[in-house]
Formats: sequence, C-alpha cells, structure tokens
Amino acid sequence: MSGRGAGRLVLIVEDNERNLKLVRDVLRFHGFRTVEATTGEHGVALAREHLPDVILMDIALPDLDGVAATMRLKAQPLTAAIPIVALTASVTASDRVRFNDTGFAGCIAKPLDVPAFPDEVLAFCVSGPKAP
Ligand code: MN
Repeated sequence: MSGRGAGRLVLIVEDNERNLKLVRDVLRFHGFRTVEATTGEHGVALAREHLPDVILMDIALPDLDGVAATMRLKAQPLTAAIPIVALTASVTASDRVRFNDTGFAGCIAKPLDVPAFPDEVLAFCVSGPKAP
C-alpha cells in the first residue's frame, strides 16, 4: 500500500459535484479509500454501513444539513466515535462554537489547500497518522 492514506476509509458528504470530485481524487491519489454521499440522509446511512475512519461533512446540503446529520451520528453509539470534520467555505467564530458544540472534531476550509489536505485528513482519522 502506497500513499499517506494507507487504505483508510473516508466518507465524503458533499453535494457539489466539482468539490466532491476534487476531494475524492486527491484522497485516492494519496492512498485513501472513499465512499461518497451527496445528501445528509445518504451520508448518515453510509456512515452506519461502512463505519469510516473519518467523515468529511459539507454543511449546506439539500436535505438534512451537515450539522443535523452530525448530531444524528453523534447520538448513536455505533457512529458516535467517528471523527466528523466540517468541510465548509465560510467559518465564522460563531460557526466554530456551533460545530464544536455539535461534536465536530474540527474544520477544513474550502477551497481546499490541496497539498496540505491529505495530511489534514489523516490527522483526524480514528487511528491518527502512522509511521510509514
Ligand atoms: Mn453544499
């Protein structure tokens, strides 16, 4: 297995096709595996099914928004421990408080800092970064 991701599974919940493709392509290039949802409801379902190492959660989604989806996952023992990272363009100080209160592990800003992104994601994985 090559790449920093070393086969870790990332659930991407993002309704913008271009952003989704960029996130998926960068992560797969670096050796992560991905599963993808474009709605909050589908994201919650895939999280239960796959129990990913980390979830990247867009906030503005067509049905259940990223905050509501995260509250649902945090309320269930099966998925409560999965780190969920908000993937969002606008992060105000009050957003950070709200995300923190909801149980998000942190936040990654859009547009992505592509060179930094794989290590940012790795740092949030359940098992954390591993020595090569
Ligand atoms: Mn969106």
